[in-house]
This record gives sequence, C-alpha cells and structure tokens, in this order.
Amino acid sequence: AAVIVAIDGPSGTGKSSTSKAVAAQLGLSYLDTGAQYRAITWWMVHHGIDLTDPTAIAAVAGKPEIVSGTDPAAPTITVDGTDVAGPIRTTDVTSKVSAVSAVPEVRTRITELQRTIAVSAEKGIVVEGRDIGTTVLPDADLKIFLTASPEARAARRSGELKGADIKATQEALIKRDAADSSRKTSPLAKADDAVEVDTTELTLQQVIECVVTLVEE
Ligand code: C5P
Repeated sequence: AAVIVAIDGPSGTGKSSTSKAVAAQLGLSYLDTGAQYRAITWWMVHHGIDLTDPTAIAAVAGKPEIVSGTDPAAPTITVDGTDVAGPIRTTDVTSKVSAVSAVPEVRTRITELQRTIAVSAEKGIVVEGRDIGTTVLPDADLKIFLTASPEARAARRSGELKGADIKATQEALIKRDAADSSRKTSPLAKADDAVEVDTTELTLQQVIECVVTLVEE
C-alpha cells in the first residue's frame, strides 16, 4: 500500500533536504507545502492585494491555480502556468508568507490541494510542512517533527553570511516561527503521535538515515 510520511517543524531544521532525500531513497513522491503557501503569497503580491487586510486575502484565496510537481529529484511549482520556483524564495515573499498563510480561507484551499496530491501518489509520498501531521494528513503512516536550536537553524539558513547577517536571519526566523505557531487555524505544532528528532547535533545524512529507518520499521 502507499505510504504517507508527514514531516513537520520550524524553518531551518533541514525539513526540505531531509524530505527530498528520504522520498528519493524510498521511491516516493515529495510535496513541499511551504512552497504552495509561498506561491499563493507571490500571486497576491503580484496582484497588489493588501496583505494587512485578511478579508482582501480571503476574497481572492480561490483565484490562483497552483500546481506542484512531486518528483523529489526535480520538484516544481507554478502559479497560473508561471514557474515561480525562484521568486517564491525572495526575502520579500518570505517576510509576507505568514500573514497570508494565517488566513483560514487560504488554509482550506491549500489543504484540499495537498490532500488531493497525497491520495493520488501511487507509491506514497513524503509531505513536509507545519501542520501535516496534525491537520492535513492526521492518518499518515509516520509523522516526524524536526527541531533544532535557534542558533543552528539561523546558521543553516544564512550559510556563508557573517555575524550581523546571521543575527538578522535569526531574528526573521524567530518572528516567522512565532507567527506560524500562534495563528488560530492549524498552527505549527507537533502531533501527539509524531516522533520528535532534534537535529542540532546531527548531520543531514544522519537525519535522513534516521527517518528512512523509521519508515522501514
Ligand atoms: O517551509 P517554508 O519555510 O517554505 O514555509 C513558508 C511558510 O509557509 C511558513 O512560514 C508558514 O507561514 C507557511 N506554511 C504553513 N503551513 C505549512 C507549510 C508552510 O503555514 N504546512
């Protein structure tokens, strides 16, 4: 039967790298749900929607057509046919996505899309996000919750950046995670039956092996 793996956690814990590698190793599909929230945010910025107004966001939540390609070796994302893989990673979109993803109409829309993709994955799928184990796929075969210290998360996100930039990155990360954790509709949270993996002292390879072993058990 198709196996469904949910991988949740805050930003900078290695969720994407881990999820893609696990999916590739096990021959499963891969879905980056953060990319979908980034894509709908990009569309709203592109169309000049007032992102301080949840009513304005809700009114157009159903408009953009978001398509995710689920090959872990080459995931894709388009909005109304436009490839937005690059534009959704800008600091502008990153700083605005929490406001958009907090709107219930946006979550309902994107959650439906995620469930449709998950059930149609023939061999199974690894789905990464913030609320996959709690809300999107509560019946997942395996739920993983990745954590890491704030310092480790900021360092991974900022890569080669120097002191001040690491500090700015850390502050932006903390702000986004706080917003994602405190929203009313399906916040960032660990499901009761999720396996928590603290990645602070682990290499990416170790985290991948740990998750693969859990799937195979
Ligand atoms: O994973 P990534 O950092 O790309 O996610 C971007 C944003 O999308 C998160 O900060 C959060 O606001 C939103 N998100 C969400 N629920 C998910 C995945 C992402 O609200 N399942």
